[in-house]
Amino acid sequence: MLPRIGDYDGLVRAFRWRLPDRYNIAHHACDAWAARAPTRPALYHRENGLRENGAWRAVSYGALAALSNRLAHALAAKGIASGDRVAILLPQSVEVLASHFAVYKLGAIAVPLAGAFGFEAIAYRLRDSGARALITDDEGLAKLADRPEGLGLVVCVDGARPGAESFSELVAAGRDRSLPVVSSPDDPALMIYTSGTTGQPKGALHGHRVLLPHVSGVSFTHDFFPQPEDRMWTPSDWAWAGGLLNTVLPALALGVPVVVQPKGRFDPEAAFALLAEARVRNVFIPPTALKMMRAVERPKERFGFDLRTVGTAGEALGAETFEWGRAALGVAVNEFYGQTECNYVIGSNAALGVARAGATGKAVPGHGVAVIDADGNPCPPGVMGQIAVRRPDPVMFLNYWNKPEATASKYLGEWLVTGDLARMDEDGYFHFLGRDDDIITSAGYRIGPAEIEDVLLRHPSVQIAAVVGKPDVLRTEIVKAFLVLRPGFEPSEELVADIQAFVRTQLAAYEYPREIAFVDEMPMTTTGKVIRRLLRDRE
Ligand code: ATP
Ligand code: MG
Repeated sequence: MLPRIGDYDGLVRAFRWRLPDRYNIAHHACDAWAARAPTRPALYHRENGLRENGAWRAVSYGALAALSNRLAHALAAKGIASGDRVAILLPQSVEVLASHFAVYKLGAIAVPLAGAFGFEAIAYRLRDSGARALITDDEGLAKLADRPEGLGLVVCVDGARPGAESFSELVAAGRDRSLPVVSSPDDPALMIYTSGTTGQPKGALHGHRVLLPHVSGVSFTHDFFPQPEDRMWTPSDWAWAGGLLNTVLPALALGVPVVVQPKGRFDPEAAFALLAEARVRNVFIPPTALKMMRAVERPKERFGFDLRTVGTAGEALGAETFEWGRAALGVAVNEFYGQTECNYVIGSNAALGVARAGATGKAVPGHGVAVIDADGNPCPPGVMGQIAVRRPDPVMFLNYWNKPEATASKYLGEWLVTGDLARMDEDGYFHFLGRDDDIITSAGYRIGPAEIEDVLLRHPSVQIAAVVGKPDVLRTEIVKAFLVLRPGFEPSEELVADIQAFVRTQLAAYEYPREIAFVDEMPMTTTGKVIRRLLRDRE
């Protein structure tokens, strides 16, 4: 846990990881609280699961522990054992957490799958992970093309279906007897697939220990979580590292109740309404969603929410959206950075004064993070290099599932290398420049898209911006911007010239986009990341 003392440097100096001999995520995030305070609320959800008209209901830690005990016993009776992969394809709900905890209690491996996945994405992950069981709902069943070999058990929360057993019948048959902590911190607990922004997604296998650094990391980014009245919410799918590891599990481990997102597509107005209605105090909202919320005028006056902390990650937030957050949400947006393989290691904390518009943040206390050159030596301040994390670190993954070469090439000596480029300033802030593959080479310069995109966002017409390199005979590449316009703006020659002139006043001459294309939608991963690779392929 983070000691709550001193300044940032004091925290860094005071930090030591102490891992227990026996450790299990389900025990930390659920059963420990259930034993201490069984009636304490763990979740709040709308009883009809919809956006409107349902009463808010609390689910206690005790109820969650009992549900997951019963499910664990029932899964064990069906032959699920330690090391088996159990895929979970469910929207934010009580059942998804009970499933995770049941799997952890058995020493099995949870494989979270996102609701936005289609047939092929699901089939790929079920096959690749060799899942023995799948826990899902009717919507998930409809997306199960053909059942991969080895998938012996399918459980449906909506009831018994052909080829699928009923979740509630299983739970009713299972005993409510707690299970001993069977795992050590290094034993595998869950496998999350990377977003697949740069290629085929890879299964990143994590040990139970992965939760411990997230608890202190989330506390850091949420300005010393937990505080009285704290209540957490994220619109992100809990299948993603951002939803699961950065939000729901650490919050529960710290005793902070989590508000369940009602079903349906993300809608900025509904998001603001939910903050007020469910008395949310802490949120994790990815940059893409914040940029959509930015289109809502005067949200605080209209909706009357009262936030204490806002965390964001997954893409660069940028100075523009940071400043919007301070004005419109009334708090500094604490950005943080990590990867599915090693998450999260850089963060901001406004309460400590570690918050700077346009910078991601500093190394989260407890993690050795640096910007390194190709030989693994730290770069001087201001020089572009790769973000790297010193090993060992409890937040690091165990390996990529069945991909030993990919695992080996993730390391350079003592460093885990991220493939992301940044520079560090004199004060130790990381400034994200772009992914290795997204860096543009033009007239001898190496240009990161992130800073150009941030300037483009400052133009009043721009809602979302993505910058890529377009092959060019003379300059190797030229900077090309793809833009989604805000409502009320139309593409035109004049607008192009105006945006180009605007960028030129703020950046070096070689950084302004020589070409601009307007698009209705950006190609995005299910985690809300712009896939610049696909934009490049169009050129
Ligand atoms: P794949 O590895 O399959 O190509 P991916 O890298 O997008 O997909 P994730 O692990 O979900 O999969 O995303 C991690 C990446 O997201 C980081 O490597 C980085 O490029 C980006 N990222 C995360 N947080 C930030 C941030 N605060 N600023 C900029 N980029 C970020
Ligand atoms: Mg990656």
